[in-house]
Amino acid sequence: MSPMSFELRDRDLLARIGKLTVRGKTLETPAFMPVVNPMILTIAPRRLKEEFGCDILITNSYIIRNHFLDVPNMELHKLLDYDGIIMTDSGAYQILVYGEVEVTQPQIINWQKKIGSDISVILDIPTGWDIPREKVEYSVDKTLERAREAIPLIEGSDNLWVGPIQGGKYLDLVEKSAKAVGEMPFDLHALGSPTEVMERYNYPVLVDMAMTAKIHAPVERPIHLFGAGHPNIFAMCVAMGYDLFDSAAYALFAKDERYLTVRGTLQFKDLKYLPCSCPICRNKGPEDLAILPRGDRIRLIAEHNMHVTMTEMETIKQSIVEGNLWDLVETRAKGHSQMTAALKRLSKYDKYLEAGSDGFKGRGLFYYDYHSIHKPEVLRHQEQLLGSYRRPADKSVLVLMSHPKNRPFNGNSGFKKLKMRVDDDRVNYCFVAAPYGVVPANLAETYPLSQFEIAIPLDHETIQSTAEYVRRYVEKYPHEHIVLVLKDTPMEEALLEKLGGLIKPGNIIRSEELGDGDTIESLGKLLQSLN
Ligand SMILES: [Zn+2]
Repeated sequence: MSPMSFELRDRDLLARIGKLTVRGKTLETPAFMPVVNPMILTIAPRRLKEEFGCDILITNSYIIRNHFLDVPNMELHKLLDYDGIIMTDSGAYQILVYGEVEVTQPQIINWQKKIGSDISVILDIPTGWDIPREKVEYSVDKTLERAREAIPLIEGSDNLWVGPIQGGKYLDLVEKSAKAVGEMPFDLHALGSPTEVMERYNYPVLVDMAMTAKIHAPVERPIHLFGAGHPNIFAMCVAMGYDLFDSAAYALFAKDERYLTVRGTLQFKDLKYLPCSCPICRNKGPEDLAILPRGDRIRLIAEHNMHVTMTEMETIKQSIVEGNLWDLVETRAKGHSQMTAALKRLSKYDKYLEAGSDGFKGRGLFYYDYHSIHKPEVLRHQEQLLGSYRRPADKSVLVLMSHPKNRPFNGNSGFKKLKMRVDDDRVNYCFVAAPYGVVPANLAETYPLSQFEIAIPLDHETIQSTAEYVRRYVEKYPHEHIVLVLKDTPMEEALLEKLGGLIKPGNIIRSEELGDGDTIESLGKLLQSLN
């Protein structure tokens, strides 16, 4: 197998910025590759590279073979007049749409080698949509069989080879497919046929398919999501660890006069404004495009669609660098109800996303609403608090306090005064704060326990999740006595409900200000009574 270099530069969630080198050409990932039909060049490939920044494109080796089989010395880069990286598909899509293709696997593999494809795909059997499980099983097994047969044929070639993953909505089949093809010596992997899932806006299913494939495919290899073309879903797909995307959406949508935005698709006829700053939209209004001949208008809409698509990749990469990709995913999820549903589904996999994230990137945490419960920083605090952290062993009394307004909580003058005046070294002081649950006073300055902004009033889910985290702490670290010093808010009410029988009614002090005389006196007396 050809040597491939894939260096990782940065990461956030499962997303990564990588440098992929193939045959002396390099590509920064995550990257979008426009599908180029060699017979209909909507935007000339040379322009795609020079004006749009597309360092990679994908075309169909099967279509090229049908038209140019007899041309001597056929070379892909010359045919397309493009010096970037060219990926070729094998004709699998034609199988999906038209049934069997009239080409054998050895023929299409040798053809892709001959024409100078940089990244090539074996002749897999795509999984369709809404077909019985037996047929999906067939596509998985047949693709694995083809993959095994392909190994001797691709050995020693200097292009990279993709091992496709099939299985559709049957996650056990996706898992089986990803594991088995992952053991074979392919350079990259690709999740097949989610196009139909996306056309039906079945984004939660896409999340399940994509996460299952990602979890079970070799993490060190780049992974491609076939047919993902709407810029609205890129942030989420990159967050799930996908490195490469291809689609003809920019051209297909333009043909129907559909104008892409990161918030969704707009019909050109409905546009009163062009909400975009790309070179097409900057100096024109919809009326300027409307008077053009239809062919010209379609071409310009396609160009706008490409600009939006490429710009979104830059936005995503900047978010990875800043470590706030989750925020971008939340923002994009507001573009369509099914995207919000997909975000909820993605929350199921929050432990995997957390594992991919680096620690502190120098920025505070923004907590918007309950979707943010699943942010890596919040999960990591729980893991550390209930895992590696050990509570002070000599403390027999847990005093759980509603957190003061200013941060760090342990720097609050009221808290300092209370601690000094009560002067009881049996006490383990902890704050209760959304979204973290328990914040031990001696850790209150560490990231991200003091570096966060949270939207109030808190929503129901955030309150419940915070109270639940407190309960887990109390159960994990038994103390002889637990004392609550609580404000009067819905958060505290939920906490009392959650802790239920664990707290003696006499051990609850109501206080709006930790440093006031009544609070200090009440706590002092209560502690004295505890032996
Ligand atoms: Zn534009």
